[in-house]
Amino acid sequence: MIDIEKIRAETPGCQRVLHFNNAGSSLMPTPVFDALQRVLRDENEVGGYEAERRAQDDIQAFYTEFAGLLNANPDEIAYIENATRAWDMAFYGLDLRPGDRVITHESEYASNYLAFLQQSRRLGFEIDLVPSDEFGQIDVAALDNMIGPKTKLIAITHVPTQGGLINPAAEAGKVAKKHGVLYMLDACQSVGQIDVDVVEIGCDILSGTGRKFLRGPRGTGFLYVRKEILDQIDPPFVDLHSATWTEANGYELADGARRFQNWESYIAGRVGLMEAVRYARKVGLAQIEARVAQLAASLREALSEIAGVEVHDLGCKKSGIVTFTKDGIDSRVIAETCRDLGINVSVAPITAARLDFEARKLPAMVRASVHYFNTDDETDRFANVLKQA
Ligand SMILES: *Cc1c(COP(=O)(O)O)cnc(C)c1O
Repeated sequence: MIDIEKIRAETPGCQRVLHFNNAGSSLMPTPVFDALQRVLRDENEVGGYEAERRAQDDIQAFYTEFAGLLNANPDEIAYIENATRAWDMAFYGLDLRPGDRVITHESEYASNYLAFLQQSRRLGFEIDLVPSDEFGQIDVAALDNMIGPKTKLIAITHVPTQGGLINPAAEAGKVAKKHGVLYMLDACQSVGQIDVDVVEIGCDILSGTGRKFLRGPRGTGFLYVRKEILDQIDPPFVDLHSATWTEANGYELADGARRFQNWESYIAGRVGLMEAVRYARKVGLAQIEARVAQLAASLREALSEIAGVEVHDLGCKKSGIVTFTKDGIDSRVIAETCRDLGINVSVAPITAARLDFEARKLPAMVRASVHYFNTDDETDRFANVLKQA
């Protein structure tokens, strides 16, 4: 059981706002904020390199904490400044050629799809869309059928940004493995709210961010790359940390996933994100997952009982992201009204996932994303505001 009172006491933001924007950027717990402050204070008082030296143990713990969280090895983890660049460092390094095929899904995140478009123009590969099943998630049987000799990559999003859908990542992993196709998972919205295990999922590459359900600082992210496939990716950028200049005309890439890292980085953020992972693991990922699902389900139920409100979430099993619209009111106006009342939600616009919005003919939706520190009182309060809106 999660001790909600203790958790909320360690989340000062809870006293000020009703925070349903955890898919945007969550509220940091006190130990995370303390870690950030500790490193920044050291940078101010003794110097940046010296502060880094003091933080050595915490910096090393970044890799072991993430390895523990994801069931990976520490040398399969890289710190990267956000999820988009983490994903890019892998994707832009793949050897994709004219005629190759990349499989993705309608729910794919905009930044990833933009990268598919950009790289397919440059390299000449084709983009295939796996159809959805009756729940709106990836149709795993169709995925199995559409893989051909030219299929080089399956790249999908675990929990899309624009709704409650949870794609069947592990089932897709089995298909990828069966065909020997590289499998890349955008886990930006799932790590921190779902118990994500890279071995169980069977992905080769996984990316995520710090600020969302992990409750870490902004401007932080991470990348997992399975050891066995490291050499299939040529990092799109190298520097004197990710590679060693061994002779005038030669270099060697660093071992493990650290070849994808920048040398210069936000040390306080790295330590803060490590602390966020440590915190989440103490609370327990299975407990977090269960509570988030329960809170989101009761929020969906309360919202769907309100006249004029339509909940748009797809999926068989649903995430903590709740999206809806209300007849006759622009979603942006709802979000502004909420903000005036100290309630944080965001708006999911078509540009976040154009294929999905177009297929479902959706307007911009209000996105209310719950986390385990939220309460039933808060979902009730929010539903009442919506009733009156
Ligand atoms: C937010 C998000 C991203 C981008 O994360 P950044 O840390 O902002 O780069 C990628 N994919 C999905 C599904 C997201 O929701």
